[in-house]
Amino acid sequence: MLIVLLTSCLLSCSQEPITCHEFMMDTQCAITVYDRADEKYIEQTFALIRDLDDRLDRYDEDSEIAMINRNAGIAPVCVSEQTFEIVSRAKALSEATDGAFNPLLGAISSLWAFDSPVHEVPDAALVSSLVEHVDIDCLVLDEEHMSVFLTDGVIQLDLGAIAKGHASQMAADHLASCGVERAIVNLGGNVYCLGSRSPGEDWVVGIQNPQAATGGYFATVRCSDAAVVTSGSYQRHFEVDGVDYHHILDPATGWPAESDIVSVSIISPDGALADALSTACFVLGSRGAEDLCRRMGVGMLVLTSSGEIIRLDA
Ligand code: AMP
Ligand code: MG
Repeated sequence: MLIVLLTSCLLSCSQEPITCHEFMMDTQCAITVYDRADEKYIEQTFALIRDLDDRLDRYDEDSEIAMINRNAGIAPVCVSEQTFEIVSRAKALSEATDGAFNPLLGAISSLWAFDSPVHEVPDAALVSSLVEHVDIDCLVLDEEHMSVFLTDGVIQLDLGAIAKGHASQMAADHLASCGVERAIVNLGGNVYCLGSRSPGEDWVVGIQNPQAATGGYFATVRCSDAAVVTSGSYQRHFEVDGVDYHHILDPATGWPAESDIVSVSIISPDGALADALSTACFVLGSRGAEDLCRRMGVGMLVLTSSGEIIRLDA
């Protein structure tokens, strides 16, 4: 692993930025440090992200989330502080978005299997029967014992819509605690901009054009000390019989959300909030998204299916 890390580092002289890459959280992760450019800070940060990923990966049977899911309807599971923190955050944000973001869609997202190479549209009756169980009150948290209990045996946790934003914030916080003042953490498009590009000058983040090859932008966002998190129907999707199915589900139906949004980016100093809201905004559509972002005090950039760009400053 060390060799991989070293060979994937663009090492250069002390004042030059350093970028390292690693595949984690089911995505390509990159961290660039612009000052205090010592790869040990990036290695430590990657180790923290890997540790979080090990706790949250629901497909890894040894993870804490898999343990919570195996014990659904059976018993509470005591978890680490890190896992308790993100699950609590997910519950609070589900409530704050009136359920448009819902971390209990695991059983349904497993049926859709967007990550699998083989794509099949799930049985509609099965999806309907599962969606009736998706109730955030079934996620019971006990702060004193740091335990998590899914009181309904059918529901499963899926933190896919919040984990990367949370991790990007954790990564930026760690780099800051090492004395790094300027860095970009990019976890598969969940970007955290630490500090500013230069004194008084914001970072500029390009937002992927859904119709262009990777790296083609339709707009830019300027920010400092903030996360820029994007959800889009182009990110994970498949086609069956001429119908396109994307990975952002409407918790009310269990089917891909019918939204006038193609891409929505949320800008906030709070990475987990930005991530959960990006998903919720997609589900709500452009009108609902604007209302939610105003209420939550975050910035927003939306591209609609008719090509309209809507911007809202925080
Ligand atoms: P994101 O890319 O942040 O919008 O997250 C999408 C991922 O979160 C999906 O691949 C699912 O695993 C899960 N997910 C899908 N729809 C929702 C939803 N409405 N609320 C919470 N998680 C969701
Ligand atoms: Mg999200």
